[in-house]
Formats: sequence, C-alpha cells, structure tokens
Amino acid sequence: MANYWGRRSQPYIPGQTKPFKLSRSKIELFTQCQRCFWLDARLKIKRPDGPPFQINKAIDELFKKEFDSYRLKGEAHPIMIEYGVEAIPYTHDDLDRWRQNFVGVFTHHTPTNLHLFGAVDDIWVNNDGELIVVDYKATAKSSEVTLDADWQVTYKRQMEVYQWLLRQNGFKVSDTGYFVYTNGRLDLDGFYDRVEFRTKVIAYTGNDGWVEPTIFKMKECIDSDDMPEVGISIMGGECDFCAYVEKRLALYKNAILERLPKPAPAKTIEPVIKPKRTKKIPLEQTDLQI
Ligand code: SF4
Repeated sequence: MANYWGRRSQPYIPGQTKPFKLSRSKIELFTQCQRCFWLDARLKIKRPDGPPFQINKAIDELFKKEFDSYRLKGEAHPIMIEYGVEAIPYTHDDLDRWRQNFVGVFTHHTPTNLHLFGAVDDIWVNNDGELIVVDYKATAKSSEVTLDADWQVTYKRQMEVYQWLLRQNGFKVSDTGYFVYTNGRLDLDGFYDRVEFRTKVIAYTGNDGWVEPTIFKMKECIDSDDMPEVGISIMGGECDFCAYVEKRLALYKNAILERLPKPAPAKTIEPVIKPKRTKKIPLEQTDLQI
C-alpha cells in the first residue's frame, strides 16, 4: 500500500519554518528525476514501491550480526584481513541509531533548512582513526560482482552521501569506503533448502563534493511551483512508471472522446435558384414545327 497524505510526513510548503526531512534515497531520486522528487516532496505523490527485498534484508541482518561479533571482540573480521583492509568494526554509542531506518545519521543543513538523513549498514575505523563507510550488497548472478555497471553509480552516490553526513557530524571520514558484496551461487546442483554465497570486499574511493550543491538545487526545486521535466531511468530507456501512466491516460482519453455525443453533421443549405422570367413569344414567331 502506497504511503499517501500524512502517513509519515507532510508535504513541503514553500516558506515553512519547520525543517523539511529528506532521506538519502530522496537525494538519489532527485539526481534521477526531478519531477518525481518534486511530486513526492510537494504533493506526496510517491512513485510506487516495488516488492520488499526480503532475502536481501535477511542477508543484511546476518552480516550485521556477524560483524557485530567481531566489533565486540575489537577484532577485524577475517574477510577484512583477506582483502587487506587495515581496520576494525567501529564501536560508538550511536551506531544502532545510525543503522536505523528513518533516523540514521542526520544533519540539519542550515542554509536550506533541510534535515538530511540516511541509515548506514556498517562503519569500520582505520589505524588513523578515520571512519570507513561500509555497505552490504547481495545479488545472485553467474558473473563476478563488480561496481562497473553504469547503474551502480547509485551505489557510489549512496556511499558518498553517508560520508558527507558523517563529516557533517564532525567525524574524520576516509574517502575509501567498502562494499561487502555477496553473490548467490547458481552453479550448484540444486537448492536443498540452502543457497551458497561468495562474498567479496570491493573498495571505492568516494568524492562527496557534489552533495551540498545538489542539496541547494533540491531546495530550489521544491520552492518552485513549476513541476520540473522528467529525468532518466537509471537502467536506461524511458521510465516504466511514466510510460505506463501515459499509455493509460491515452486510453482513457480515447474512451471518453468516443462516449461524447457526436456533433450533428453540418446541414448544407441548397441555394434557391429562381427560374428566370421568360418573355412569352407568340408561337408563330418561333421556329418550332408542330
Ligand atoms: S519519469 Fe519516472 S521517475 Fe520521472 S516522474 Fe515519471 S515516474 Fe517519476
């Protein structure tokens, strides 16, 4: 069920004094399609959500438990050692809050009066005391997991927003973050109530320089009463949602036009041609032979 009016938040009203809350995913939405972002912020018309990724959620939870056990011991997880990451899972009183949806790591951006937040999967800390943003990802495909696909720019932006949010909270943050990326094996003989995964740790050097300028643009967008143009689909091609809406609207429009009473055909008015007056000629003066 979609979240419509007031379920979680109120629409943005230009000039409001109360800070307006925007999550990391709304920053992502803005970078993809300003129209969808505007509809969401100004009218609370949300693009339909897909079904929840329960398997991915389960894997996230299990990863958290696994890394937490090493956090408690103050040791690196074996996969961190295998991939040469010189760090340990970070301990902080606020870590649970930073991982909690709808709360996360947050900051109030004073120039725009926007309250920005995002929930991290994990944070490690290196030998220089710098925090390292970590994101867990899960998939199942026959090829190796990488960050090379065009659409994975969304993953990179996600990490850069978290780095920016932590810096806004006064932390020293490493530009290098890590994706703990696991891949379900498709090459086994059967399911037998078990899926096997292979996990890689992929380093990514972020640059959060785009985040603040984008926040100013988002504010300008929601302050305007003009609905922006549509953007691009992150997977390429037209956006499935808007294409669907347009096709349905065209169908309705045609159906309505067909039901409207047809205008009566225009009447053609025949010109009245008056017979010419003829002069009577006596028969004997004509050539007629009777
Ligand atoms: S193109 Fe897609 S993302 Fe943009 S407004 Fe339409 S539904 Fe939203």
